[in-house]
Amino acid sequence: MSDSRRDFLRKGALLSLSGLAGSALGNESAEKLETLGSFANGTDGGKFTLPVLPYAYDALEPFIDQQTMVIHHSKHHQAYVDNLNKALNGYTGKDIKSPQTFQSIFDVASKIPAPLRNNAGGHYNHSLFWTLMKENKDNKPNLPTGKLADAITATFKSFDIFQKTFNEAATKRFGSGWAWLYLEDGKLKIGSTPNQDNPLMDNAEIKGKPVLALDVWEHAYYLKYQNKRADYINNWWSVVNWETAGNLFQKG
Ligand code: MN
Repeated sequence: MSDSRRDFLRKGALLSLSGLAGSALGNESAEKLETLGSFANGTDGGKFTLPVLPYAYDALEPFIDQQTMVIHHSKHHQAYVDNLNKALNGYTGKDIKSPQTFQSIFDVASKIPAPLRNNAGGHYNHSLFWTLMKENKDNKPNLPTGKLADAITATFKSFDIFQKTFNEAATKRFGSGWAWLYLEDGKLKIGSTPNQDNPLMDNAEIKGKPVLALDVWEHAYYLKYQNKRADYINNWWSVVNWETAGNLFQKG
């Protein structure tokens, strides 16, 4: 492929991924999550950039510690962004359809090079994950409300059973991966994916639209919790942003 053709393709991709250029990931982005490319958070000289956290690095204390958040966001997530830019820059295939949104990449996840698949997944999953947490320093009761709460109770019989099922999915995912609450054909389901896969990918182990996501890679908890993934999962419920999850659910 010629350089000019590659530039053309890349610019086309970035235009469609730049819905939130320059803005933080907050409630504003939650309103736009139904358009999958819209929270890639734009471009900086023709590249994907790291989204700004919608809270301070220490906001999720004491449940998720500041040092973990700094490294997770500024090192790990940044690396997914950088490697996604590299992978897209070197991509010469024709499988990804225009306009190139996250979904158009995930639609052909099984056909594209692993670095492109993994880093697109990594950038998407983390961008979503940050919006699904919020400060709760006083550890106030933190439960879903409204239609999502009703659907969880209707689907899983009770919030406690839902939580236990989700915890099992997150705990039992062997090695690195993610646990998900997702919508498959309008029905709430719980599952997990390995590595940086997600339910939007064409050949993922589970298929649907994300409502809630939990990173269970060791880098998400090891500094504070060491090998105790179950303790991290239990504490994470205190900082779940149910408003974002509820918006994702309602937009289905
Ligand atoms: Mn992570």
